[in-house]
Amino acid sequence: MRKLVLLAVSVLALVALGRPATALAYGAQGHEVVGAIADNLLRPAARARVRALLGMPLRAASTWADCVKDVMPVAGQGMRYNPDPRFRAACRRFDTPAGRARMQAYVARNWDRCAADSHDQACHKTYHYTDVAIQHDRYDRAHAGTSDHDIVAAMAAAIDVLQGRPAPGPVAIQNPTEALLLLAHLVGDVHQPLHVGSVYLDDEGRLVDPGPSGGPIDRHIDTRGGNAIEDGNTNLHAQWDAIPRSIDPAVLPAAMLKAARAIPPTPGPVAQWPARWASSTMLVAREAFAGLSFTRVGAARPGNWVVTLHDRPAYEATRATLQQRQLTLAGARLAQVLNALWP
Ligand SMILES: [Zn+2]
Repeated sequence: MRKLVLLAVSVLALVALGRPATALAYGAQGHEVVGAIADNLLRPAARARVRALLGMPLRAASTWADCVKDVMPVAGQGMRYNPDPRFRAACRRFDTPAGRARMQAYVARNWDRCAADSHDQACHKTYHYTDVAIQHDRYDRAHAGTSDHDIVAAMAAAIDVLQGRPAPGPVAIQNPTEALLLLAHLVGDVHQPLHVGSVYLDDEGRLVDPGPSGGPIDRHIDTRGGNAIEDGNTNLHAQWDAIPRSIDPAVLPAAMLKAARAIPPTPGPVAQWPARWASSTMLVAREAFAGLSFTRVGAARPGNWVVTLHDRPAYEATRATLQQRQLTLAGARLAQVLNALWP
């Protein structure tokens, strides 16, 4: 009996260690769910182009843009891929000699395209988010937190390359394969509300306006999409990245697929879809920050806040519902854009 208990404890410990909760934004699981939904909704022409460009389904390709975050400069050797063992499982499919060369070339080309105004030293990491204050009800380049190298700009650049035009601005995409690897990931991220909407807070934890786009944002009020808002030993951003474990990309819930097929098409020209999707996520971000209050941590970790949930069970239930809805939307819209590009 004691042995059984020990076995159970060590299995639980292994499960806990293997859980990809934070570092892979939205988690490999979330991205694979989005890719798997889109795989099911592709029409034959788009499916054939995806297979030709990627050699793998969207579900597998969806994690590439997070895997490349483990490419770093090594003195005297240029960029080197050195995978974090905790996340290797979702990245192993890219870890071939040709796959490493592709990842290293992408990062070398994009590393310092925007260093001056970035939280991250590596510019390509900024392609995964934008930080629009939730007081706004839509994404607009006039708002602080947006840039020509944010998630909307990066998706627009990927669409340009897939339509046969060069990528504009700082986002440097070499070919359609790289563009599709990016798009398959970023359409997932742009539906994660804390990858789009953010709160800027004063010392009393009240919402403040970070001002217009272009000027430097006061680091003291910036929560970095909820990454600086602590809840126990995790943070608000990470909690929204980690999706309910019951949603399995290998066995998609039938109700989710049915709902994805019923999502209405995005209106307007394809080039405008990234901004439209970000605008729709802004309204979800408002819900994600509702019912919360914030207290500055103080000298221990300056620049961080602690969150208080007014009704934790209700908040967590709402979060799970919204996450499922957003994953469904993302999967449907990834298929929409590829079906529109390759009718
Ligand atoms: Zn991401």
